[in-house]
Amino acid sequence: MDRFSRQLLTLGIDVQEKIMSTKVLVAGCGALGSSIAELLVRLGVKELKIVDADVVELSNLHRTHLFTEKDLMKPKVLACKEFLEKINSEVKIEPIFDIIDETNAEDLVKDVDVVFDGLDNINYRLILNDACVKYEKPLIHAGVSGEYGNAKLVIPGKTSCLACFLQPSDSRNACDIIGTTTVVPNFLASIQVQLFINYLRGYSEDELVIADLKDLRLDKIKMKRNPQCEACSLHEYKYLRHMDINCGLTRAEKAEGDRIFSSNGVELYKYNGGYIICYNQKCFKKRIA
Ligand SMILES: [Zn+2]
Repeated sequence: MDRFSRQLLTLGIDVQEKIMSTKVLVAGCGALGSSIAELLVRLGVKELKIVDADVVELSNLHRTHLFTEKDLMKPKVLACKEFLEKINSEVKIEPIFDIIDETNAEDLVKDVDVVFDGLDNINYRLILNDACVKYEKPLIHAGVSGEYGNAKLVIPGKTSCLACFLQPSDSRNACDIIGTTTVVPNFLASIQVQLFINYLRGYSEDELVIADLKDLRLDKIKMKRNPQCEACSLHEYKYLRHMDINCGLTRAEKAEGDRIFSSNGVELYKYNGGYIICYNQKCFKKRIA
């Protein structure tokens, strides 16, 4: 417990033990997900599954603290794992090179205790939300846009869920690349991890945290469950059956363009509209908006 001596003064042994026995899923390993993962490992979480199907690009480095130039073109989940094991060599990291969609969301959430949303696509988020509500797993969400962000703890059966107030985006809006700075995702990741600590202490308020970094304001809005919500009220989980996703990363059967890169198991193919990234016998189309 030497490692956590300063933290124990604040959290106490009970909360520290809960942290150390919680298995988490971090969905996405971009700016949000990698910051969440780093904070969780430093906090004392010992078992993490991290899911992402992208590789590290130069345009990630300004906001993703775990990645350096040495990681360029590496699968993000592997770069995350390597970094996290340097913080604590005893931590068990399961890197999963994949997207989270209706084919695997349920399997991914089933055997963990808490799920963190570090995704950047509202439609994939709603799939993850459905899986969490179905299997009664707490989901700690955050979204980032420019210098703003929001975060929410979803406790299935208790608080509202994301489907209570979010709709899937039409392909145009969902494809927009949203800008942000190095500060905002890291701040929101910190809020998410604080929500996790508070949840372990028994916090269960139904609130949306709104952060305006530009104006340095932090507000909370009271939320309510939607009695017509198809996830948490009607238990229909329609996004686990089908969701139209036309942008970001989507599954590809095989590479079907000109190979432009190959190294350490990662292959990149160009096709009209973007790239196909292949690793570990899995390929994903990355459409460039
Ligand atoms: Zn709901």
